[in-house]
Amino acid sequence: MSVLVYTESENGSFKKIALEVVSYAKAIADSMGTSVTAVSVNGGNASELGAYGADKVLEVSNDKLNNFNAEAYADVLAQAAKAENAQVVVLSQSANAKFMAPLVAVNLEAGYVPNVVGIPESTSPFKVKHSVFTNKAFSVTEISTAIKVVGLGKNAFGLKESNGGAAAESFSPTLSEDDFSTKVVSVDKATDKVTIADAEIVVSAGRGLKGPENWGMIEEMAEILGAATACSKPVSDMGWRPHGEHVGQTGKPVASNLYIAIGISGAIQHLAGINSSKVKVVINTDPEAPFFKAADYGIVGDAFEIVPQLNEKLKAF
Ligand code: FAD
Repeated sequence: MSVLVYTESENGSFKKIALEVVSYAKAIADSMGTSVTAVSVNGGNASELGAYGADKVLEVSNDKLNNFNAEAYADVLAQAAKAENAQVVVLSQSANAKFMAPLVAVNLEAGYVPNVVGIPESTSPFKVKHSVFTNKAFSVTEISTAIKVVGLGKNAFGLKESNGGAAAESFSPTLSEDDFSTKVVSVDKATDKVTIADAEIVVSAGRGLKGPENWGMIEEMAEILGAATACSKPVSDMGWRPHGEHVGQTGKPVASNLYIAIGISGAIQHLAGINSSKVKVVINTDPEAPFFKAADYGIVGDAFEIVPQLNEKLKAF
């Protein structure tokens, strides 16, 4: 019996979300009196996962898995779950994990709940709280299948260090051509900048910036902070910024630690996408802008005066 957790890595190092899902799996395992087994595909050093609660790391080393393939990765995870007699399988809500989680659930004939926001309300029966309607409400769902698959929302649990050490074990799943019925043949990376999904900090701007020629100070702030840039929907609709930067109900969700909104009114459709961000800072000339009600910190003032001054101060850190 175990709680199995899928850990994502990039260039041989575990991503922060991998450490977060392991921390979360550890909390579930403790409440169920069982252990945590992590699955690492061509990933980093097992001891990193041990520091966050993994008891065992199944290391899968296979050149065919160098590029992410949802079918193949889901098959690897399902085989590991069977080998480990897993009761619960935990994944993140990254784009890749969201793609593979339903495939894992089908393979294991398991119930799947995405966007989980905390440790299970109870483990017998197994009930988890998860966000619905773009984070406007929460729902508690019971999973009654023998194996349960849960997708942990980004930043929903945080990192919790643990004293344990993980034993690394090689795991060789059986993969067939059927596992690779679709494959990505080329990727054109639009940018090397921090992506909105991975960003700890997001600097976002709206129509208050008046035009695309004024984004230099936004880019500068993002560069100083190591942040991703984002924007409101009208800004991308008008072609001031690429569509990939549009956040909100109809755009990308943002679950960063810090979200800085500059010249954005805070319409409900925009707020729907950024609710999961931890600290929200708003800069707006209008003290009645709805965004101030959702903000942790607010500056009433002209972005064209405040942002350059802030950038100078931030550079000094
Ligand atoms: P505005 O509403 O024009 O606000 C600009 C703000 O800038 C104002 O608050 C103003 O006071 C401030 N400002 C002006 N000058 C300055 C200055 N010099 N310094 C500082 N502040 C200044 N929107 C999204 O963003 N994401 C979505 O996913 C989304 N989905 C939608 C889905 C539907 C079905 C619909 C109907 C709408 C959707 N919208 C979405 C649009 C949304 O309703 C708003 O129209 C939009 O978010 C407004 O964008 P904005 O805040 O940039 O612009």
